[in-house]
Amino acid sequence: MALWVSALLMAGAVQVAPQADPGVAPARSKLFPIDPTAYLLGRFRADTTTDFVRLPPKITDGRPAYLRTQAARALTKMVTAAQEAGLALTVVSATRSYAAQRQIWNAKFTGARRSMGRNLAEAYPDTSERCLAILQYSSAPGLSRHHWGTDVDFNSTDPVYWQTGRGIAALEWLTGNAQPFGFYMAYTQGREHGYRYEPWHWSYQPIARPLVRLYFDRLISDEALTGFLGASQVRELPWKRWYVEGVHEALK
Ligand SMILES: [Zn+2]
Repeated sequence: MALWVSALLMAGAVQVAPQADPGVAPARSKLFPIDPTAYLLGRFRADTTTDFVRLPPKITDGRPAYLRTQAARALTKMVTAAQEAGLALTVVSATRSYAAQRQIWNAKFTGARRSMGRNLAEAYPDTSERCLAILQYSSAPGLSRHHWGTDVDFNSTDPVYWQTGRGIAALEWLTGNAQPFGFYMAYTQGREHGYRYEPWHWSYQPIARPLVRLYFDRLISDEALTGFLGASQVRELPWKRWYVEGVHEALK
């Protein structure tokens, strides 16, 4: 860890998890498992990085999924409680690397992968408009909370699912029960900026909250957003304010 980061944390400049169960809050010195900048940008492999663990298959869709150790512990408890209550809660996405996010982003940029059923390369010949369209539901590489090992997607990333009986039941359970486990919906309705409403995306606040501040204030600059299609167009946006800070109040 860079010395100034340690100093910042030691000085108490960063508040860690004031609203979460103190039993699951991490020690301040444990905030970064590796170099802070590489970590925040997702430039590492979760399967070989210290303090990342694989989630138990019974709470995932079967594909290997990784989270920070404390987030994984809290998540497993929460999903087990949901399952005991008769709710189907399944992790369909957890930690994603910069490389994985770049693959998703570039495919949406070229139109090889559809976004909510649409080919955005055809719909938006202007690349700045296309980036804004992708950013309704997908983050740019280096900008994703999924890099941090604190965030998961449940059940389905199709908004229609969350209007069905099963989706509504899952959302009601999460809304009523997730916070004591440390989890908050990141992209709630009624925010001024940022991604669209994502009822499937939940974040482990004790670790993720201090990361937002550090990302915003200190660690990540415009130059970090590079190496993907449309990067210069994304840099022209107020990207930190919209896509990093544009989250639930309890997560910033
Ligand atoms: Zn997500």
